[in-house]
Amino acid sequence: MKLDRKIYNFSPGPAMLPESVLRRAQSELLNWKGLGVSVMEISDLTRFFQEFLKDLRAKIRKILSVPENYQILFLTGGATGQFSSIPLNLLGKNPRADYLVTGWFSKIAMQEATKYGKIHCVTNERPGQITPKEEWKLSTDAAYLFYCPNESAQGLAFPDIPESGSIPIVADMTSYIFSSSIDVSRFGLIFASAQKQIGQTGVSLVIVRDDLLDQACPITPLVWNYNTQAKENSCVNTMPTYATYIMDLMMDWILEQGGVEVLEKKNRRKSKKLYDFIDQSNFYVNPVQDTYRSFINVPFFSPTKELNEKFIEEADREGLKFLKGFLDLGGMRASLYNAMPESGVDALIAFMEDFMHRNRSSSKI
Ligand code: PMP
Repeated sequence: MKLDRKIYNFSPGPAMLPESVLRRAQSELLNWKGLGVSVMEISDLTRFFQEFLKDLRAKIRKILSVPENYQILFLTGGATGQFSSIPLNLLGKNPRADYLVTGWFSKIAMQEATKYGKIHCVTNERPGQITPKEEWKLSTDAAYLFYCPNESAQGLAFPDIPESGSIPIVADMTSYIFSSSIDVSRFGLIFASAQKQIGQTGVSLVIVRDDLLDQACPITPLVWNYNTQAKENSCVNTMPTYATYIMDLMMDWILEQGGVEVLEKKNRRKSKKLYDFIDQSNFYVNPVQDTYRSFINVPFFSPTKELNEKFIEEADREGLKFLKGFLDLGGMRASLYNAMPESGVDALIAFMEDFMHRNRSSSKI
């Protein structure tokens, strides 16, 4: 089926997937790898699926240049499942951890961690801003330092990886992973649920350094234990086969695009266009300080709450979907993940311009 007109889906997640990925999934739905059944109908323990997992790991290792001393796990429970179980996995020998709170998700991650350890907030605990580095109070004896490179709700991003000395860095890369090149060796553990950059809900990617696998608290549930999952090839409980398959299609798509360096250039160009337009509009505002602006999630506001609501409604009718801002933060938010083509940003800017001209007089500015 062909849609009558172009739809651009700016959803923060589950987010848009490339059309070619959806079409490939459609074409392989009834018959995966010539087995005559769908990938959602086979056991994760079959040799077919185990071979598929081996190939998927190899693709991820290649795209992100993951060093050999890191395990690649595919787990359930979303990013929330990961940040809730990370303290259980890493505080077994040393109960102290540092958290950089910069937004909604790092704040919840820290709250979860306080259930299990002695948690120290390095920043000012106010979501929506990044405390300048000079004011951070890092511990010298923490088991890890947790941060979120891209806070999807607030559209707030770190310009670089925090310096933590020998303390392993744990990063929630849910909205960030595969959007740009990263030096995996700078991290102890990286995790991301798949539904923004690498597929659909149901599976999360965890990349963890070998030496962190023996730090778990004895109460860590089997299904959340990274060491056990690493030994069991992520199959301690039944793998979400279909979601993992979609992740694999996304890896092929990323390779076809030329890898993360190419995607990063495209992503930076897309978001720069949008920020430049917002900044010169004298109508729309993005509240984030330049240095910390996300190139993935771009929140913006028109002059009034009423106009924000009107914008979202009218944009939706024009095929610019799911632009509503995060919960009570309000306003609009355009999520520009890898799959969003530059033509989507152009269409959004054209609509924003038109909306601005039609509504400037009613906006009290
Ligand atoms: N961390 C970040 C940065 C997110 O954007 C999200 C989801 N929006 C989460 C964590 C929570 O992810 P999940 O719903 O998969 O638990």
